[in-house]
Amino acid sequence: MRRIERGAIPLQARRELYKRQNAATSQELARDEWNKYRRSVKSKTVVDALKSAVGVRQRCLYCCDSRSADVDHFVPIAIDFTKAFRWANFIWVCPECNRRKGKRFPLDPSGAPLIIDPTRVDPWDHLILDTTTGLLAPRFLDDDFDAMGEATLDVLSCINFESVTEGRKRVVRRYYEAIDRVLEASGPKAFAALAREVEEDEYGVSGWFALREGASEDKFIQLRESYPNCWRTFVRLALRN
Ligand SMILES: [Zn+2]
Repeated sequence: MRRIERGAIPLQARRELYKRQNAATSQELARDEWNKYRRSVKSKTVVDALKSAVGVRQRCLYCCDSRSADVDHFVPIAIDFTKAFRWANFIWVCPECNRRKGKRFPLDPSGAPLIIDPTRVDPWDHLILDTTTGLLAPRFLDDDFDAMGEATLDVLSCINFESVTEGRKRVVRRYYEAIDRVLEASGPKAFAALAREVEEDEYGVSGWFALREGASEDKFIQLRESYPNCWRTFVRLALRN
């Protein structure tokens, strides 16, 4: 899971969503209207905007691994049909994450969502990365596990499927190798190779190493102390990633 900027959609597309929402006066009508909308060419603008937000390889916004193909309603239509046509409620996801989430939408005692919406929340606020296994786990705070981290991993269990953790491990390994090259050879080529790893990092692991606990690993401390300019560039790119 990684934080992304949602961006905006053209005024005409917003008007279309507004019109459809007005026609959706019940859960059943909202679902019918949504199915009609998705089959129509008018939904293309919205789908294209979601695609451009997630990047060229179209990775799922929840698991970051499989290819996205569906629009997920972050707040499901079954829970609140008045959000069926809200741009801010659309997430571009893979079929597996979409199927697992379905109507599941746990809330905290105050009624706030417990699943992480990566367009609003930085997942690293609630999750930690085990760089050895590639597994994500909920943070442990004040004698308890982070409720959002826990609920997210419970509902979207594919985030920790082996194929996904292997992908995360591969990205971690590539960072280690790129940093070894900087520490051994320094020079612009090694710096550029590290920058490229951040640009190609579709799992958001750069944020873990640049801005979170991963920054305390020996390699990253060495990088920060020996090549502060390279470190600053790494952090700046990770913030953008
Ligand atoms: Zn997914």
